[in-house]
This record gives sequence, C-alpha cells and structure tokens, in this order.
Amino acid sequence: MASVELRKLTRRFGATAAVDDVSLRIEHGQLICLLGPSGCGKTTTLRLIAGFIEPSAGEIAVGEKVVSSAARTVPPEGRNMSMIFQSYALWPHMTVAQNVAYGLKLRKFDAATIAGKLDAILTTTRLKPLAERYPAELSGGQQQRVSLARALVVEPETLLLDEPLSNLDANLREEMRFEIRRLHDEYRYTTVYVTHDQAEAMTAADVIAVMNHGKVEQLGTPEDVYYRPSSEFVARFIGGSNILRGAAADRARVDIAGTTLLTTGMALEPGQKVSVSIRQHAIRLLNAAPDASLGNVLQATVTRQIFLGSTRDFSVALNDGTELRVTAPPEPAIAPGTAVWLHLPAEHCRALAR
Ligand code: ATP
Repeated sequence: MASVELRKLTRRFGATAAVDDVSLRIEHGQLICLLGPSGCGKTTTLRLIAGFIEPSAGEIAVGEKVVSSAARTVPPEGRNMSMIFQSYALWPHMTVAQNVAYGLKLRKFDAATIAGKLDAILTTTRLKPLAERYPAELSGGQQQRVSLARALVVEPETLLLDEPLSNLDANLREEMRFEIRRLHDEYRYTTVYVTHDQAEAMTAADVIAVMNHGKVEQLGTPEDVYYRPSSEFVARFIGGSNILRGAAADRARVDIAGTTLLTTGMALEPGQKVSVSIRQHAIRLLNAAPDASLGNVLQATVTRQIFLGSTRDFSVALNDGTELRVTAPPEPAIAPGTAVWLHLPAEHCRALAR
C-alpha cells in the first residue's frame, strides 16, 4: 500500500479554479473524507487522483511515483485504484457474481484464483445469497454493496468513493457508512471518500478535509473539525455554529453586543476584529436574570420557537440585531417577544480571526 500526496495541485476550467493549490498527504491505510458544499471541488480532486483529468499545475504522487503532473499523467488503468460512483454502474446483463468477477477476468487470473477471490469478497460483503441475481433484482443498498465488492476484489491500493451513498434512503445510508468503515478496517487500503454529508464523514473518516472554493480550509480528525474549527466557514458548515462578531478587548475577551465575552482558542490582539463561534446546544437559555456574578451572559429576545420532541429550537435576537439559534430542553416554552438571558460558557466560545 502507498500514500497519496497532492502537491500544490490546481485544476482550472476556464477562469474557475475548481481545485486551487491543494497540498495534502494521505497516509497509506488512512480513510480521508473530502467534505464540503456543492461546487467546492471535491469531485474534481477525486477525478484528478483517479487520472480521469489532468492537473493545470502541481502534481500527485502515489508512494514515490509521480502519477499526475501538468507534463505527464498516468492513465487510470495504469494506477492501482478502484473508483465507485454515485450511480453504482453495474452491468445489467450480468449476475452479481459475474459483475464482481469481471475485473479479475480482465486481469487474466486463472479460474481457481478467481473462484477463491470471488468467494472471499462475497462472504465479506454478505452477498453470497444474492450471487446469482441480476442487478434489477436487488435493492439500492444491495446494488451498492455489489459495486463495493467489485471495486475491492481487485485489491486496489487506493479506493476512491464519490458520494457512494447518495442514492440510498436514510436508514440504508447509515448502515452502509458503517459497512464502508468495516471493510476499510478489514482491508486497510488508502481510501478517499467524497461527501457533502457531515454525519457520513464523521462516521467513516480518520481525517476530514473540509473544502471551500477549491481549497482545503481545514484538515483534521472529526473531533478537530467539530470542536476546534479553524474558520467561520468550518464552524458553520460542521454542526451549524452560531457566529458572533466583535472586537478584542484583551488577549481573551471580546466586546460583543454591549457585553464582554471570555473566549478560548487563540490569543487576541486588543482591537483585533474577532468572530466567536458557539454551538446551538452549548448556549444555556434562561428566562430570569441570572446572578450578576455569572459571566458571559447576553440579553436577547425570543423571535421564534419550535417544539421538536426531545428539544426545543429557539431563534433569539441580541440587542444589536444578531440572530442566534439555541437548542434548549423541550420545556419551558417561551413565547416570541419574551426577554431572555443567554449564558455562553467561556469554554464553548471559540475565537476565530476574521
Ligand atoms: P458536488 O457536491 O455538487 O458534486 P463538488 O464539490 O464535487 O460538487 P466539483 O464537481 O469538483 O464540485 O466542481 C467544482 C467546480 O468546478 C464547480 O464550479 C464546477 O462547476 C466546476 N467544474 C467541474 N467540472 C467542470 C467541467 N468539466 N467544466 C467546467 N467546469 C467544471
């Protein structure tokens, strides 16, 4: 197995840089998710790694070998990689077993070797009882398992997955996330997994690269990107944080909406413009004024509330007009127009440079 390294990789389409100067090292055996909104360059990055398109600048190395550069690109079939697409792309006239064995036949293995490898992968992917069925006789999840089996049976060094679960319903999607992770743990190939779904990335990935406008905005473990977002974009995209804007009063305090909030995350320069991110469920909503000794309290007015069963979702407005979302216990209900106090515990107020 080999690492995959992107070095200052850029791909332009006309004036747009779909991938913009991306440097990233994916260790062998690691599962990395490229996560980001539509159009941020995830699929283009994956297609560059697969060799379907050539870089405009920069290069890709697998182990020691450069496989893509502006000067020379090894074609997809010359890379030991398998790619799985959204649309399973199974051959409708072949059974499950024939679909899965196809890549082995292309590689001219003898019949006994093919039978052995086929049996092993059908067992691992729990497809043995379905081996003689045709794709039209399978559910979406089963078809996706066949496409996984077909990609894995050729023992690729690198597995590339492009939104592999987006055509499945919510329950199946959840089951298949674990399945992909289980197979990865069993085979330990290097996996690059493209998704716009945060939960999918959190479940499957060792490392998440959060992409925005063709660049990697943050690279880290699921815990890193969730607890320690490095930018407003990551804070909002991962878990929908609230963002408050103000100016630093000293190294750790920020003046916001007439109050001074103690924050964590970075040393501030007095006067510096700062954003503070805080998650919806980290804010405590109080319907009576707290003791004056409790710090990090902001006054607000409820603008909307929605009962969601296990929680109540509030929208509140600060006196400077900033709207925040707060996830609170289901009771009490508080009517729109009511004055409330928000306690923002300092350890959850993450300061971000603007
Ligand atoms: P999605 O989640 O919607 O698939 P993505 O993050 O995978 O999005 P890409 O498909 O990589 O995004 O596209 C990145 C940008 O490059 C977009 O602005 C897209 O319009 C543009 N782009 C992609 N492929 C081409 C192409 N063949 N020709 C011109 N522009 C392209």
